[in-house]
Amino acid sequence: MKVANKKVTAERLVRDALEKAKHFEDYHIFTFINEEGALKKAREIDQKIARGEKVGRLAGVPYALKDNFLSTEGETTASAHILQGFNSPVTATSVAKLEAEGAIMIGRTNLDAFAHGSSTENSYFGPTLNSHDKQRVAGGSSGGSAVAVALDIVEFATGTDTGGSVRQPASFNGIYGLKPTYGTISRYGVVAMASSTDCIGFFTKTPEDMDLLMSVASGQDSKDMTTLPDYYNDSVYKKGPAKVGIIKDFDNDSVHPEIRKALKNKVELLKSKGHEIIELEMPALKYGLAAYYILVPAELCSNLSRHDGIRYGFRSEKSKDLDALYENTRNEGFMPENKRRIMIGNFVLSSGFYDAYFLKAAKARTLIVQEYARAFSKVDYILTPVSPNPAFKLGEKVDDPVAMYLEDVMSVSLNLAGVPGLAIPAGETKEGLSLGLQLVGPRRSDKALIEFSKELI
Ligand code: GLN
Repeated sequence: MKVANKKVTAERLVRDALEKAKHFEDYHIFTFINEEGALKKAREIDQKIARGEKVGRLAGVPYALKDNFLSTEGETTASAHILQGFNSPVTATSVAKLEAEGAIMIGRTNLDAFAHGSSTENSYFGPTLNSHDKQRVAGGSSGGSAVAVALDIVEFATGTDTGGSVRQPASFNGIYGLKPTYGTISRYGVVAMASSTDCIGFFTKTPEDMDLLMSVASGQDSKDMTTLPDYYNDSVYKKGPAKVGIIKDFDNDSVHPEIRKALKNKVELLKSKGHEIIELEMPALKYGLAAYYILVPAELCSNLSRHDGIRYGFRSEKSKDLDALYENTRNEGFMPENKRRIMIGNFVLSSGFYDAYFLKAAKARTLIVQEYARAFSKVDYILTPVSPNPAFKLGEKVDDPVAMYLEDVMSVSLNLAGVPGLAIPAGETKEGLSLGLQLVGPRRSDKALIEFSKELI
């Protein structure tokens, strides 16, 4: 990525990014443009460079921030009406780390409200358009971030991946998107969806950029007790022939033929480079989607209970008493998909149904964890599609939640198991839509995934 130095100023890099953001306004990528703040920071970096002072590894690099990361620049809304007007007093640890190295946030990006969705159509502000076809969805929930990188507005963007929200939009827009091992990057200061599967990740145009961002952002944080001690910067990647698994259970007619062809092409490429391909049977993965859509609503309904109109953002003023204030604020402030999930979550946690749903899903999650452990005793990596279809048409699935959930069938099991996945570009369909695959590895193999992905170019 282009970093500011004696030849190119940070101000130039930031101005270019701001101009491109304006040029692509109709894609509806940003919820906030940080023009003044970004230019001020750029000038400070340029002054440092002029004085010969040391600057960070990301000096002057413009980036886009998914609008569910808290920082003191701009409102943090998570694309939800209920958070409109919320100015965070704190900054997310990941944001602080990026900015300490000189990265400059030029705008906050659109998402499905509270990251609930697979298309960015659940945003209160309306959908983001796909970078390859304006009639189609950007993917979700981090749709704005993916399109900001794909259209080359910024060098990188942040995302969150609770069940695919980095990998799927990355693959719908032909770029790299990493969901790291659970606990690699601090979640402190990021609007919580499901605390046991939420991961912070990035969108980039190259594996090299991904590596740089991971080395900056990973590591233990006393403000997030689930973070792992920094393993990323100590990881050593051993080059050489690898064993790569492909999942037989995913090779069927429910997967778009051009995605299956893209996978075959990459398998041939790996073989030609001397890697061994091993077919895996992973029957437990078929429980992934059902388990995810029980466990995640259960967690997110607890996390969203803090939004009551008292503490953050929007408050419905037409209420006659306190109960009505809670009800009206939530009713007006949440999107339909948020409400659906809050209801599912409360249902599966209720005393009469806990054993039948939540407990069973928790057991299925254990089976999935064991399934991945078994697979990684046989192979170094797994290569699978990210989703069964390329980007679908705007409006095609938004009124059919189950059809939308089915798009997540290949991404959610990684989050349930806590293993990392890197979405990689894998060509285009005949119509020019981008195709993506994901490279999956055991926990803490993030560095190896990034390095090994270079074999697939
Ligand atoms: N599409 C998935 C969902 O709707 C994943 C969302 C995410 O990763 N934030 O839950």
